[in-house]
Order: sequence, then structure tokens, then C-alpha cells
Amino acid sequence: MGRFPSVLLIVASVTQVLSLCSHNTFLHPRAEGGAVEVKTFGYVGNIGPLFWATLEVPANSVCATGTRQSPIDMREGTFNMIPASDLSIEIPDFPAGTEFENLGTTVEIIGKGGELKFGDKTFTFQQAHFHLPSEHLDNGTTRAMEMHAVWQSENQEIAVIGTYIDIAIEGAAAVAPIATAPTEPPAAAPPAEVGAAVAPAYATEGVVEAVGLPAPVQVQERSWLGRFRRRSEAKKQQQQKRQEVAAPPSTAASAFLETIFSKVGEIATPGTVTETPPLVISEVVNLWKAGSFQGYSGSLTTPPCSEGVHWLVSTQTLRVSAATFFKVRDVLGFNSRITQNAPGKINVMAEAAMKALTLAVPLPAAAA
Ligand SMILES: [Zn+2]
Repeated sequence: MGRFPSVLLIVASVTQVLSLCSHNTFLHPRAEGGAVEVKTFGYVGNIGPLFWATLEVPANSVCATGTRQSPIDMREGTFNMIPASDLSIEIPDFPAGTEFENLGTTVEIIGKGGELKFGDKTFTFQQAHFHLPSEHLDNGTTRAMEMHAVWQSENQEIAVIGTYIDIAIEGAAAVAPIATAPTEPPAAAPPAEVGAAVAPAYATEGVVEAVGLPAPVQVQERSWLGRFRRRSEAKKQQQQKRQEVAAPPSTAASAFLETIFSKVGEIATPGTVTETPPLVISEVVNLWKAGSFQGYSGSLTTPPCSEGVHWLVSTQTLRVSAATFFKVRDVLGFNSRITQNAPGKINVMAEAAMKALTLAVPLPAAAA
């Protein structure tokens, strides 16, 4: 369980919790039939991420002190690669659509059941919302957007599946390999060789080699993640390569996302809600199952930044058309938290504050 129980107690004692990653969970139950509650934190200026800890004291303190904060740069060594076969994911489609809300800090669809199982844990699907640009960095690179599918267990643990969203390539049947791409099509290449020669276009899909990257950060084993470390790194990497080869990235726009965002203009104003057309979310579930997950123990990416969140960042990418991206951008604006230090490292805000202090008040010689 690691540190989660103590965090849970702190969080559970807070009644005025305002967060989007936790919206529609025990942290912030959604009022049935009530008005959409508009959030009071923001992403720029004095309500932005630099000030979140000061907006609710001490409820949000961990935003500025926690050492396992999200989002992070998903570089090798910061996560454990988890095969999709280690998880069970089911979400029923939405034949009658679902609510689509503007919380002021994101837009969100409301879940109507669905189950995620890993190890001995079972989570229920709560909601999915969107960040622009992506919150996690894919090996140093931001993506156009990121979808967070939020799940909650009976004992009130939270898991989030993060999925990068890029712009669809109109009229292209497949991603064109560039520069260092293998000469053979990925599907025909021997699995053990493909990863080493993979092109940047594929590397951004999660096939990442360590060549040229900084030394991996050592991540302490915590809770359920530790169990996945039994398999050797080499075996995991080979498995990952095989999965990516078996499922080359699609460049087509997601029907699921296009259907949701066809309604985004109706909720341009914070606090508004509409209904989506019928949604086939199995498209997304199947995409997840065709890839792997980069797992790590992190936090909510919004106040109160509670830690103990089971992050599963998919190696698969969803896409939206350029026209849809611009429509969504007009509504979301910018809602991405500053990239946090790697898990286990000092909180990036605490680090910045300490360094700023040394500028303003030079340390005495004895402490130097
Ligand atoms: Zn989120």
C-alpha cells in the first residue's frame, strides 16, 4: 500500500476538494442532476500551478511538497512497462450517449460503469476528461492533447489511464517512416531488431531506446507496481517491441473522440452541460489492449495533488482531425500542469523555492 493510506486520510478530511482528475470520485462526488461546478483553480497567473498550494491551505500543500507528483516526463527508468495482458479493462458502450460537461478547467464525459482489474484490485470507471497540450511528456515531447480516464476502487484508490492524442494525418494510410526508419515495413521486420532501428515517428508511440538519453532515474518499488518488476527488463523491452510491431500506429481520427467533440461547441461556457450522441468506447478499450502501459505511482495533476494515484499511460495514441483540434482548443485553451520531477525526487516547486532563496539571501560560508 506504500504511503497511500496516510495520503488518503489527509484527503478524506478535506471537504472542499476541487479537482478535475478526481472529479466524480470519492474526492469530489458529482452532484446528481445538479449544476456543473466550475473549478476555482486555473493554469495561468496567480491561480496557476505555481500557486495551487496556496489556494487551499493546508489541503493543497502536497502540490508543493510531494515527491511523487504528476505529470512527469515519461523517460525510460521513470515507469514500469506493463503488458495490457496483465490488466482486464471493460467499459460498456454508451448507446444513449452520456453527459458532457465543462468544468472550467476541463471538459469531461461521465462514466456509466466499466471495470479495470489488475493484481487483486478492481476499479470502476468514473469519467474521462481532456488536457491540452498533453500533461505527460512522451520522452521529452508534448503531444497535442491527453485523455485521462479516471477509475476508483471500492477502498477509494484512484487509477488513471492516460492516452496521448495527436492530430490525424488526413488521407494517409499509415505513418510514413522517416530518416532512420527500418527499410522493411515494421510488421515484416524481426521483433528483436525493430526497436533498435525504430524511427522517431514510432519512438513517439512508446517504443523508446535508451540511446542518447540521460541515465535512468531509479524509482523505488511501491505497492502494486513492484509486482510487475519480476520480469527482466530485457524481456519486457522485447515484449514491448513485439506489441508495437503487431499494432502499428493508426493515423485515422478516432470516431469516439470526434463524436464527443462534435458537441464541444455546446459547452463552450464553463458550467454548461450537454448530451453526447451514442458513444462506442470499445474503440478506445481495444486500442489500449493492443498496446502496453507505462505504469508509475504518481498524483492527481490538479489540486489537491493527492499522491498514491496508479498511473497507466498507454503506449497507444488516439487522434482527432485538425478541425476538431482547433474547436477543442478554443474551449480548453490551456490546461496542463507544469512537468514534475521524476518520482522520488524533490518536489520541483520546493526545489525552485530553495534555489530562489539562495539567490535572494546568499548562504553563509559555513553552509556552503
Ligand atoms: Zn486529468
